Amino acid sequence: MSAHQLASIYKKLSADLSSLVQPILCSKALLVHLSHTLEDYVLTHDQPTIIFTGFQESSHWRNETERYFDLARVAQQVCVFAGKLLPAESSAQLLQIELADGDPLLQEWFLIILCEDFSILLSGLEDIEADNVEEQQIFETILTFDPAVIAPALVILEGVIGHYRPLFLTRFQDLVASHAVRVANPTALATLMTDLLLFQNSLNRALAKRDREIRHIVSSINDHVYVFSALRTGGIRHLYSAPNMEQLNGYPVSRKETDGGFWLSLIHPDDLERVLAHNQQLSANSRSVIDYRMFHADGRLIWVRDSVRIEPSDDEDALYTVFGVVSDVTFLKEAEQDQIEREKLRLAFDKEHQLNQLKSSLLVTLAHEFRTPLATIGIARDILDRYSDRLSEGQRQQRLNTIQAQVDHLASMLDDIALIVKNDLNLLMFRPTLQDFVYLCQTIINEIRSIIELPDRVVFQSEMEFLVALVDARLIRFVLVNLLTNGLKYSEDEVVVSLALKAGQIHMTVRDQGIGISLEDQADIFQPFFRAPNAQFYAGSGLGLKVAYDCVQLHQGSITLESTKGEGSAFHVSIPFVQSAV
Ligand code: ADP
Repeated sequence: MSAHQLASIYKKLSADLSSLVQPILCSKALLVHLSHTLEDYVLTHDQPTIIFTGFQESSHWRNETERYFDLARVAQQVCVFAGKLLPAESSAQLLQIELADGDPLLQEWFLIILCEDFSILLSGLEDIEADNVEEQQIFETILTFDPAVIAPALVILEGVIGHYRPLFLTRFQDLVASHAVRVANPTALATLMTDLLLFQNSLNRALAKRDREIRHIVSSINDHVYVFSALRTGGIRHLYSAPNMEQLNGYPVSRKETDGGFWLSLIHPDDLERVLAHNQQLSANSRSVIDYRMFHADGRLIWVRDSVRIEPSDDEDALYTVFGVVSDVTFLKEAEQDQIEREKLRLAFDKEHQLNQLKSSLLVTLAHEFRTPLATIGIARDILDRYSDRLSEGQRQQRLNTIQAQVDHLASMLDDIALIVKNDLNLLMFRPTLQDFVYLCQTIINEIRSIIELPDRVVFQSEMEFLVALVDARLIRFVLVNLLTNGLKYSEDEVVVSLALKAGQIHMTVRDQGIGISLEDQADIFQPFFRAPNAQFYAGSGLGLKVAYDCVQLHQGSITLESTKGEGSAFHVSIPFVQSAV
């Protein structure tokens, strides 16, 4: 192996001979066409020729194998330089050189032809970063007929051959020496030039055809297609607006193109702010969709869906380019609206249905629950009526007390029912005022202590001394009275009420160590009239917890239960700690 410094033809020539070479941008398709034209020239003119070509391994080039065999039959020498070798050399005229990894030549595509009519060099640098399809890859290319540029390229190739195939070096030198690099003859140049012009012509025709097809497609769809650049100065530059805008909103597309604010002027004033805010959010490499209302030229209000894709712009004065499609979605919106109306009706119907159910179960329960107290009252009244003269003053008072207790029970049940019905009809008013929450609870607890046999059974603990918050005192009273009286009713020991403030929420817990509630029953515990089986020997209506639940809900709060059957229950209430009305 020689210690010769390997080099890229393209890089070396453009660095050393910058005044003689002027790189141009060529697509791979164009380079393939050019090389075929030149090779065809060799094949058809049958002149003593030397061809050097180098490329990256690719399926495209692999298909060319036959072509190199043909060329080798006609030419004196064909040298192929590639990363991975083509099939075995077909003859002495075909020399294949497998370039090692890291060889700078691997990065480029080149073709050097020395024949009698012309000498030419084509050399392009592969864009290794490119991820687009091979045909569309763009090469920086040197194309020259100038012997002063071609000769140094041959010196580079001599080094490469000396490095990889030293045995062939002398033959290479002899061939090049016997094949003076020569200025092209005008007839050959004219032939090549004509071919290029024809090729360009066919490309232009194909392009024009594609353009017609795309315009045809765009104008035959109902959606309005547009492209514009968002300028750094804040304005926009229309790049394309499909003429079918007229189908969408009745205005000719020229209105949009000549008046920058025309489109925005059609948007319904109630939607404009939202659209502008949405547009502010747009950024390169994103997609977005927004629906808004716009006025049609005939005065109708239509719903449109504006979907855009945003790409970085090639223009220096532009931030990005917006590719958009606007579709009329009025039908869709009307269908959606219908759906919403139907849903509202369904909800109203469900509500009505629920209320009817509540009414029926209320009547059933009323009939059932009122029977016992009424019977008790009836009996007490009977006794008073019949045996009044035989009863002692104490016995009479006892009957009267029984009647009073039953009347109180009936009244409290009626109160609860009234509350629940009012809440379900959205009539229960929520009137919050600033209250010291600690003092409010303390007052309620004291009232309850004053009417129970063992006042010490109620224990009150508060982490705060006072807590001024916006609450509805009347509703808080319902909550605490119901939870506390339940605790006292369903247990025999202490009931602890505790207050705390955590994460912006007032927490109130009422805990007892009584009969508890099974997991199964916990699911229904806040339903009106629900009573757990283990509560059947205790008087009650199944309304208290529902009342408490509704009152907490009106405070935007929550009420949860933690309980084990036979071990006790804890009801946790949390309501947002609001300190002022604003
Ligand atoms: P009731 O008048 O029946 O107590 P509530 O609505 O207050 O009605 O309670 C509903 C049911 O929840 C009760 O019947 C009982 O089964 C259960 N319950 C409520 N609080 C407790 C508690 N502290 N301990 C055990 N069970 C309870």
